[in-house]
Amino acid sequence: MNSPRPPAVLIEPMLIGDHAALDLLNTVAQVDGAPRDFLQSDADVLRWLDRMGLPADAPAFTPHALLDATRTLRETVRTLVAQRKAGKNVDVAALNAFLARGHYAVQVVADEGGWRVERRTEQRCVEHLLMPLAEAAAELLANGDFNLVRKCEQSDCTKCFYDRTKSHRRRWCSMATCGNRHKVANFRKRQQG
Ligand SMILES: [Zn+2]
Repeated sequence: MNSPRPPAVLIEPMLIGDHAALDLLNTVAQVDGAPRDFLQSDADVLRWLDRMGLPADAPAFTPHALLDATRTLRETVRTLVAQRKAGKNVDVAALNAFLARGHYAVQVVADEGGWRVERRTEQRCVEHLLMPLAEAAAELLANGDFNLVRKCEQSDCTKCFYDRTKSHRRRWCSMATCGNRHKVANFRKRQQG
């Protein structure tokens, strides 16, 4: 008799960017030496939005529409962040076109839930789910300190983060992974020397 297959381990992208726009970029990361896109389906996007603490109440949409829109936005943001970081000309047209689809009205609401400010849209589409990310990217480009937008120092790691440490000397995506690998490598070097 065949033994039951062990359940597939669900690996989620690490949320280490300290900025929503950078965490979006980190949904592609190196796994076992090869780039891996953690967003392979609409469900992956919804799960990731939820982990990010963003609304994930999707309206009915065409299959793959959310995935496609997310990947498009992600690669737009990736280009812009790279251009901005390199001090190059930044072409914001694609991001602005995306933001233009966000039509919403800001409303103040008071009910049993208390007081809050809400953004209301008449027609919800997949882009609306992604607007907080597009806005975060716009905010980063306009107001971010790009000296603090950095890539993990581990050479084969592509994850990036916004360094919010007091000393501004963050070097790794995570101490538990790349930081630790560096420590171990250093230790070995010292032992050999
Ligand atoms: Zn890393």
